[in-house]
Formats: sequence, C-alpha cells, structure tokens
Amino acid sequence: MQVIQSTKLANVCYEIRGPVLEEAMRLEAAGHRILKLNTGNPAAFGFECPPEILEDILRNLSGAHGYGDAKGLLSARRAVVQHYQTKGIDLDVEDVYLGNGVSELIQMSMQALLDDGDEVLVPAPDYPLWTASVALAGGTAVHYRCDEQADWMPDLADIERRITDRTKALVIINPNNPTGAVYDDEMLRGLTEIARRHGLVVCSDEIYDRILYDGATHTPTATIAPDLMVLTFNGLSKNYRVAGYRSGWMAVCGPKAHASSYIEGLTILANMRLCANMPSQHAVATALGGRQSIDDLVLPGGRILEQRDTAYELLTQIPGVTCVKPKGALYLFPRLDPKVYRIKDDRQMVLDLLRAEKIMVVHGTGFNWPEPDHFRVVTLPTTEDLTDAVTRIAHFLDGYGQP
Ligand code: PLP
Repeated sequence: MQVIQSTKLANVCYEIRGPVLEEAMRLEAAGHRILKLNTGNPAAFGFECPPEILEDILRNLSGAHGYGDAKGLLSARRAVVQHYQTKGIDLDVEDVYLGNGVSELIQMSMQALLDDGDEVLVPAPDYPLWTASVALAGGTAVHYRCDEQADWMPDLADIERRITDRTKALVIINPNNPTGAVYDDEMLRGLTEIARRHGLVVCSDEIYDRILYDGATHTPTATIAPDLMVLTFNGLSKNYRVAGYRSGWMAVCGPKAHASSYIEGLTILANMRLCANMPSQHAVATALGGRQSIDDLVLPGGRILEQRDTAYELLTQIPGVTCVKPKGALYLFPRLDPKVYRIKDDRQMVLDLLRAEKIMVVHGTGFNWPEPDHFRVVTLPTTEDLTDAVTRIAHFLDGYGQP
C-alpha cells in the first residue's frame, strides 16, 4: 500500500528549502561549487558564535542533558522579562515561552489559535513559515500587500479590506524578511489600531530587531499597544548568529484575562514537546545583557553593512533591476522590471540561474509575493562572494526573458 502525505500538508510550502535547493544539492554532489544566497544562516558565511555565548553553553553543558521546564529555564525567562521591562513592557516569567527557535513557537502559536477556516492576516511578501504554519493549523493566510512604492510599508487600507468575521490574528514582521523594511511608530500605531478595532491577536516577529542600518531604530509592537495582546517573537539565531543552537522565545505581552483558554492551549503544546533545547537556554541571559557584538557588524565600518551596500549597489546597476534599500535584516528583495524581463515562472527563473551560473537565490513568489518579478538575496556572504554572485546574476539576466 502506498504511504500518502496527509491532506493537512496540501497548502503547506516552504520554498526557501524547496526544489531549488534540491537541485543545488544535486549540482554540488556532481562537483559544482554553488554560491548559496538562499538562507539567513550567519554561520554558513563564516560568522563565529560570540565567545560569551559559547562559554555559557560550554560551562553549563554537563548539567544541561536533562529535560527542563516546558516553558523554559527560569533564568532565561527572567532575562527575557527584564529585557522587555527596560522597554516599558510589563511581563511575568509565566508569560514567556522558550522554543527550539522562533520557528517552533510560530507553529505553536498558530496551532493553539486556529480552527479550520479561521483567517490570519500575513504580509505579502512574508517570511513563508508564517503562511505555512497558518495552513498547517487548518487556517487560511490572507495576504495583505506591502507597498514597494512606499518603501515596502504595509497598506493599511488593504488590511482593513481583507478582514472578515473569521479573521483572528494580524502578523507583523518588523524588521521585515524579505524586504528589509523597518516600521516607524506611526505605522505600528496604524497596524495595532486595526487589530484593536477588530479584536485581533497581534503576532509580532522581531527576530531582526538589532540588525538595523543607517540610523534606523526598532520599536517593539507591544510598547505601542499595551492594551492589546501582542505575541512577541525573538531569539538568538540572527542577532547572535547562532541559528543552529535553536533558541528563541515568545513573550505574551499585554492583557491576558480574556485569553486564558488560548494560553492554556499554548501551555499544553509546550508541555507536549517537553522542553526546548536546554544548553542554549543558558546563553539567553548573557545574550540579552551587556554589549551587543552585532553592533560591530551593522554600524558604519561593519561587515554586514558593507555587504548590504555592495550588493545593493551592484544589483541596482543591472539594467531593469531596482531595489528598495533595506533598513534592517539580512536580505535584498530586488525587482525585475516586467517590461525588460518577461518572466512567467520565477521559480523556473531561479532554477535557470542556478544551472547557468551556479548561484542560488530564492524566487519572490516563494515569499507569497503574487507576481513573478522579485527574488531575494542574502547579504551575509563576503563582499568578494557577493560581487562574484551579482556579476554572475547580471550575466545571466542579460537577454533572459526578453522579447
Ligand atoms: N522569523 C523570521 C522573520 C525569520 O526570517 C526566521 C529565519 O530566517 C525565523 C523567524 C526563524 O528563526 P529561528 O531560527 O529562531 O527558528
């Protein structure tokens, strides 16, 4: 008898590690060197683990082999509470859940919230795990448009238009993956006002909150709307460059009295997975306190900032390619002018690029962007590798899909 995939997976997709990556791996196995610009995984591009984080993990390793508290190590949760308290957000250790990366917590937040047919407002473009997690939980991701002409700011009127009596939550990704947009307080007020008016849970994914350029500042959504329940997601993967240690947290901010059954659901799910990876939880307090080594990488003279600038300058020199300069996060999301490049299938386009030039990027529709006219580049490789990659992208695009 055939073993067939569950229908639950019918609308679940995660293209960042999809068929294009499989083809890249086939090419690598055949002996080709592939420059992979597809994942925001700092370690893959030579970024070391900050020594203080490594030390905390190593010193605690021999005692961290048992199951821990399902919600997380008390000292880690306390550090998360204190971190948000310094930003004026009132929290209790019971409001914090540690997870195996933000990814696990995103899925738990949706599994505990949604019934079949419930709707969640998710940005387009988005980090596609949000859409996939909504679908896996039986819900429907309803995509609201972020406006490239307005530096990728969410279109508030579009959000408003898409609300129905099934809408339960509003997802905000700030700083945004893939666009690099960073929202100002006025935008956050506009977004949270919609959630307030329609009784929506706000899910605020802030995993890039310290990866900011050109003087941009980040405001946690929960500080803008202390009267709303805001699930705030963050972790160690990006700001501290230890994605493989799988460590993230979710802080349930704001009033909760009306949400006791939902919170009970979250706790059931946390209990079911027993606990999050214990060794890395010992590093959370150290990570959040003290000097932030990420500043050395994103402030003037920093490696990541220079890489963003190089990639931006080279990409926007390609005829028919434009790009909003990112103010945060680790990506560029350039646009291919449809009058210059007649691309019908952008996944095919990135496959063609991979086979021709041995460069891997992710197509825009993989981020639930509706038109086949964007792709995403990671700004983590060295300037030499980025220069090489963009030169090859330019070579590939020359003549591609032109009438
Ligand atoms: N949220 C966003 C916006 C991301 O870009 C990513 C990873 O790229 C994640 C969450 C997942 O992070 P984690 O490694 O903590 O699971």
